[in-house]
Amino acid sequence: MAKTAGNIAIIGAGIMGLSVAHALRESQPSVYDGGGFPADNASWMAGGMLAPWSEIEHLPEEFVAAGAEGIKLWKNILPGELKQNGSVIVAHKDDEYILERLAAKLPSQEKLNAQKIAKLEPSLARFETGLFLKDEAHINPQLALDSLGNAMKKRVWKDADPEELSRDHDWVVDCRGLAAAKEDKELRGVKGEIVFVRNTEFNLSRPVRLMHPRYPLYIVPRPDNVFMIGATVIESEDNTVILKSALELLSAAYSLHPSFGEAEILDIRAGVRPAYPDNLPRIAVDGNIIRCNGLFRHGYLLAPVMAQCVKDFMDGRENNFISLFRRKNDEHHNQRPEKKHNRRA
Ligand SMILES: Cc1cc2nc3c(=O)[nH]c(=O)nc-3n(C[C@H](O)[C@H](O)[C@H](O)COP(=O)(O)OP(=O)(O)OC[C@H]3O[C@@H](n4cnc5c(N)ncnc54)[C@H](O)[C@@H]3O)c2cc1C
Repeated sequence: MAKTAGNIAIIGAGIMGLSVAHALRESQPSVYDGGGFPADNASWMAGGMLAPWSEIEHLPEEFVAAGAEGIKLWKNILPGELKQNGSVIVAHKDDEYILERLAAKLPSQEKLNAQKIAKLEPSLARFETGLFLKDEAHINPQLALDSLGNAMKKRVWKDADPEELSRDHDWVVDCRGLAAAKEDKELRGVKGEIVFVRNTEFNLSRPVRLMHPRYPLYIVPRPDNVFMIGATVIESEDNTVILKSALELLSAAYSLHPSFGEAEILDIRAGVRPAYPDNLPRIAVDGNIIRCNGLFRHGYLLAPVMAQCVKDFMDGRENNFISLFRRKNDEHHNQRPEKKHNRRA
């Protein structure tokens, strides 16, 4: 690995900041987060699904390819924590047309009948049709944040200002998530509500999506029969959970398997995803400040790819993915500073 030179500060210890910190670990960057560690941020609330093909209706094709690269990178970043068991997508009989619509967009998939579903996920034996996306993966976000955060040598648990730090650092990587909306007026928050339940009568080996015209749902398995049920997508920056959402999530889970009727509710929470108007993430370069933001529903999927782009940019190396993330109206800024300590005008 080429050594990235410099005195580097990273602001934000969500998945974006910690992915950059991991990519730049040889330079021992300082990581700042005013929320402490682990902070109560979007990254802490996530499902941890690395599911570019399941997300094909929310991601342009070239971002799906970046997502596949994200899975590859995670295999090296946290090999012990990545589970690549694929994803299963099912629908109730009346909603099978939604499954067919998705299948038509996918480059490849395995179609599942009742026997195949029962073999892969015995708890879903009541479903008759489904899709299996074998290359998808998932990680436990909280363990991933812990592992990445604890590996950092220089951690500063206080708020930092990118402009201020840029005066005495070679590079500042701004990964503040939604907090950057103060200056970045295009950034907005999109609430996602989730429920954690324990259901000892139900087992899953991989994330499952239930396609539904009004209440699409995913369930991600965690250890000890705990399941994360998520997630709403609401144009709001408050992190309260409303009753209607809780009803929808819980009813959809109950419709997936009746044993959810007896499940123990452990927690109901909401996280707020940072998003740009096109719901796609961006890397913007402004002097010696590199801003990475807008990861919306795909923070775990795309943060490692963006982090590698940041490292390659600092090293002056080509990266096939960087053009995906460049801010379209800001391309004249996206050049390396000509000399070290180049400051913004
Ligand atoms: C319910 C839900 C489910 C999701 N599921 C998935 C999923 O399955 N797969 C997937 O890929 N993505 C998923 N996402 C999306 C993913 O969680 C987000 O895209 C990602 O967490 C955004 O990460 P971030 O690091 O940019 O922001 P954040 O996680 O919000 O981190 C920003 C950090 O910056 C810190 N900060 C802010 N201001 C300052 C400052 N001035 N100084 C220092 N620190 C500061 C904050 O304290 C915070 O810790 C989900 C999101 C939600 C809400």
